[in-house]
Amino acid sequence: MAQQIAESLERLQLDQIDCLAIHGINTIEHLSWATDSQGCMAAVKAAQAAGQIRHVGFSTHGALEVIEGAIATHQFEFVNLHYYLFFQRHRRAVDLARAQDMGVFIISPGDKGGQLYHPPETLRTLCKPFEPLHLSYRWLLQDPAITTLSVGPANPAELIYPLQVADQTGVLTSAEQVAIDRLATHANTTLGNSQCHQCYACLPCPEGINIPEILRLRNLAVAYDMQSFGEYRYGMFERAGHWFPGRRGDRCTDCGDCLPRCPSQLPIPDLLRETHDRLKGPERRRLWG
Ligand code: SF4
Ligand code: SF4
Repeated sequence: MAQQIAESLERLQLDQIDCLAIHGINTIEHLSWATDSQGCMAAVKAAQAAGQIRHVGFSTHGALEVIEGAIATHQFEFVNLHYYLFFQRHRRAVDLARAQDMGVFIISPGDKGGQLYHPPETLRTLCKPFEPLHLSYRWLLQDPAITTLSVGPANPAELIYPLQVADQTGVLTSAEQVAIDRLATHANTTLGNSQCHQCYACLPCPEGINIPEILRLRNLAVAYDMQSFGEYRYGMFERAGHWFPGRRGDRCTDCGDCLPRCPSQLPIPDLLRETHDRLKGPERRRLWG
């Protein structure tokens, strides 16, 4: 790590960088690799003491418990994580980070938050007079716990809209709130008693199926016609390792373990198979090792 930091500074032609993030603390094992006494943080802290790094943080695609564990080490000053209007599972981690005065950056709210740069017509209609991307950005930016958003533009033009909205950090306008409430009402109506409420009580599944995430993608596909996003994310199960853990819905063996744990009494195996048929899409190559 000491060598990597030295070489990076040389390539950047800088004596000091503002923020260094340990990328991809996705598992408890990663956390210990980074932070135990033999881990890379020793070199990072030495570089910080030498004035080469001002702030140290981490990015994560991991589970809530891993993120909370990393924050609890008090070794990081900022976190870059998944948290969106359509995925609020990590709220506890956001609050924990805020309580420690950490910077909270949001990973790719346009893409990972729902492929909102080409939204389905149903979603566009529900968000009017706003674009889904606008509501997604504003919902995050108005939150005092959120420091900023990480965007991944493929070309300069894709920065225009994020920069227009970047300073709009005031509370939601009543029109924005109405549109967000409309989304929730529509989901309740459309999904009825098949809606997964993302409590995660059904886990663990002995087959390693990521039940809540699969049913979240189903919620979005059924309520907002987010079929393309659902196929994109569902297609990552079993192909992206710790970057997107869990097995596909068709791995369910009907063991029944999850059923009594679901407070909504959802027919989980049936919904998993239905979602698999709905979102399995074409076969795709493995994304990461
Ligand atoms: S019934 Fe299916 S989804 Fe539920 S715990 Fe068993 S294998 Fe997992
Ligand atoms: S327990 Fe039921 S409502 Fe909660 S995440 Fe699992 S399937 Fe969804």
